[in-house]
Amino acid sequence: MIIQRPRPADGPGIALFVLVLMPELPEVEVTRRSFADRIAGAVIRELRLGKPLRWPLGVNAQTVAGQRIQAVRRRGKYLLLDLDSGLLLLHLGMSGSLNFAPHQPAAGPHDHMDLLTDRGTLRLHDPRRFGAVVWAPSEYSPQAQKLLGHLGVEPLNGGFEAAAFHAALRQRTAPIKQVLLAGDIVVGVGNIYASEALFLAGIRPTIRASKISRPRAWRLHEAIIAVLSRAVEQGGSSLRDFVSAEGKTGYFQLEAAVYGRAGQPCRVCATPIRSIVQGQRTTFYCPTCQKH
Ligand SMILES: [Zn+2]
Repeated sequence: MIIQRPRPADGPGIALFVLVLMPELPEVEVTRRSFADRIAGAVIRELRLGKPLRWPLGVNAQTVAGQRIQAVRRRGKYLLLDLDSGLLLLHLGMSGSLNFAPHQPAAGPHDHMDLLTDRGTLRLHDPRRFGAVVWAPSEYSPQAQKLLGHLGVEPLNGGFEAAAFHAALRQRTAPIKQVLLAGDIVVGVGNIYASEALFLAGIRPTIRASKISRPRAWRLHEAIIAVLSRAVEQGGSSLRDFVSAEGKTGYFQLEAAVYGRAGQPCRVCATPIRSIVQGQRTTFYCPTCQKH
């Protein structure tokens, strides 16, 4: 579960609720780190699925029983559990969270997957059920590529290069914020992080991606890496587990430069932060620091 804090600046209705709750790449990476080492090497005893999730498993759940979990990797917002044969792809959707513990209490109404192993149970809690647990014979099979094939490069593993990023932006005439959110150039720059990275780079979210000059594209490249790395280091922006364990609320709730701060003074120049809606998502920016 994740912090539930409505923000008036995001506008009314359920959409803002989702926007605040949705796990982005840093949350998924923090989740991966929370159990990857402990579950690697464990043998699956049983896969129990509850109510239908976004997609069906794609195979009889008994197929994975007896298999060893080799490793837990991340690609975009998917977690990949490599098994002796094939892999499980897990997605947290809009409200999902994973918890791995030696002993879990009885499954509640929103617990839709229990992966029982000889070391503990990995549980998916997902009230809105946009999450997914999908089996695929390999990462390169059609079943897996349907989910992973369109993903852009990973921003944090060294494969994200400034020159290639600039070249890709030059091909796009859509506003830069929406190009980042699409995730097919670089993955993981969700709504919060796109607003923050564009502020850090001094780029107006509405400018056409193709109009961004080379030095500004390089600055944005650096800003994306900085914002996402910082969020991972700080434990993701909105994991409740992190909050309760550390006794403080998520990083961006406290220190966002622009996200969720409409009407409040810019931390650099004191101009009131503006919010606009782009592609049904709220964007925040400083009209002075991000002139064009
Ligand atoms: Zn400013």
